[in-house]
Amino acid sequence: TAGAHVPALVIGTGYGGSVAALRLARAGVDVHMIEMGMAWDSAGPDGKVFANTTAPDYRSFWLRTRTKQPISNFLGFPLDKDVPRYTGILDAEDFGGILIYQGRGVGGGSLVNGGMAVTPRRENFGEILPSVDAGEMYEVYYPRANAGLGVSHVDPEWWEATDCYQYARVGRKHAQRSGFPFVFVPNVYDWDYMEREAAGTVPESALAGEVLYGNNHGKKSLQQTYLAEASATGRVAISPLHRVTSVAPRDAGGYTVGMEQLDTTGGTIGSKTVTADRVFFAAGSAGTSTLLTRLKATGMLPRLSSEIGKGWGDNGNVMCGRANHLWDPTGKLQSAMPTAGIDNWADGGAFAEVAPLPTGIETYASFYLSITRNPHRAEFTWNAGAGRVDLDWRTAWKQPSIDAAKTIFDRINAKEGTIYRTDLFGSYKIWGDHLTYHPLGGAVLNKATDNHGRLHGYPGLYVVDGSLIPGNASVNPFVTITALAERNVERIIAADL
Ligand code: FAD
Repeated sequence: TAGAHVPALVIGTGYGGSVAALRLARAGVDVHMIEMGMAWDSAGPDGKVFANTTAPDYRSFWLRTRTKQPISNFLGFPLDKDVPRYTGILDAEDFGGILIYQGRGVGGGSLVNGGMAVTPRRENFGEILPSVDAGEMYEVYYPRANAGLGVSHVDPEWWEATDCYQYARVGRKHAQRSGFPFVFVPNVYDWDYMEREAAGTVPESALAGEVLYGNNHGKKSLQQTYLAEASATGRVAISPLHRVTSVAPRDAGGYTVGMEQLDTTGGTIGSKTVTADRVFFAAGSAGTSTLLTRLKATGMLPRLSSEIGKGWGDNGNVMCGRANHLWDPTGKLQSAMPTAGIDNWADGGAFAEVAPLPTGIETYASFYLSITRNPHRAEFTWNAGAGRVDLDWRTAWKQPSIDAAKTIFDRINAKEGTIYRTDLFGSYKIWGDHLTYHPLGGAVLNKATDNHGRLHGYPGLYVVDGSLIPGNASVNPFVTITALAERNVERIIAADL
């Protein structure tokens, strides 16, 4: 069917897309957002919108018949189980050498992530986004992003006393005994709500272990922040369960955007086209990179830069667990929202988030997601024979990340007389080196685009998401993705509209 015309179309509803939609709408531009995932605004048969991390069900995974849990094993037992194929919230997208975990739905990654809202240290910014003026970012756009996202700190006094951060206090003790800086990191969770969870006066969310498959309460996802503000302008429409498949220039100016409407088993109900004056690619690093790589290679957008698809990195993600002594229990109640990390970036190239392992039982385990300085960069390429986009990342490329993480945990283990857990990612496997939560790059700023995200060769096409960042952010990335989008969209509105 021939669809409507919109001034601005946004592909994806994660951080970059939500910033673009809000700022364009506030500037008086009508916006249509297209989202392949579900709206996540109505309850399932159990009365809840989102499934619990410890009990994945049909809502948990994007079009899989078996779960693909990041921690796949426990005490030798595989944890994955069969689930009905459904347009669930977490996609473990398999690129051969790496699984890229992503949120699917209105709100993108904000629906499933740990809410850790970290602004990188200013001295590291030059290696993250070398072509961007750091002064502007730290004076204007990082503060704007933090305000828009509702970022705040846990009350330190409450944190010191509450059972649910026992695991984090054990993490601090071990970090400090080995001489590592232990830093609190802000989060978008509503801390007042968490305190009431702990007091037993409201339904539990973070304290019930909710995170990977969504939080029913407490977490300020984009649905509660940028997207709520965007919707309040009256200028933003969102189409969930629609996947953009093509973008092509029109003779009359602007672009024709093709999309498929999906049902909840992933089947295609129908195809639509919409015409738009401007199109903002905000499908996330993997989504935007695969779409642009295919559109360039198949002749729909042939003038795109040869930099498209290049410069992809995993933010150096690697996971591990440590087995503590019996006198260092990490607690059977663990808040699913991390609050702190071990910062050995300057000396060892690793920032390790002290992560929860919310199993509901005492595990005596400390669990960490490390962000490391990994120099490897992969490229997305069009595989014409298979009709898909490939990514040439290899599992062996995680070795620099493992080495960096070991600068922290080998020392802690030596000091404490402890060992690594070997049961979390298989049997006798220490490192979770098969995945990333933080895909970055593939349409790198000032290479595949100009210095504000305008795609070369096609006026009116923009990239506004994590694919602009060349592979590493030195910390968890969503605050940087948001701040960069704030910077770029402000310029685009001022100069292009
Ligand atoms: P996304 O948020 O990924 O949004 C892209 C959206 O586009 C998605 O909703 C997707 O469904 C949609 N889309 C894709 N392709 C199409 C298409 N063709 N048509 C229509 N729609 C499409 N970061 C932090 O900073 N702190 C954390 O604590 C943290 N924890 C994490 C935990 C997990 C389990 C995961 C998976 C991620 C975590 N992250 C965290 C990473 C963070 O969520 C991502 O960096 C961020 O969401 C990326 O933002 P984005 O705007 O680039 O894209």
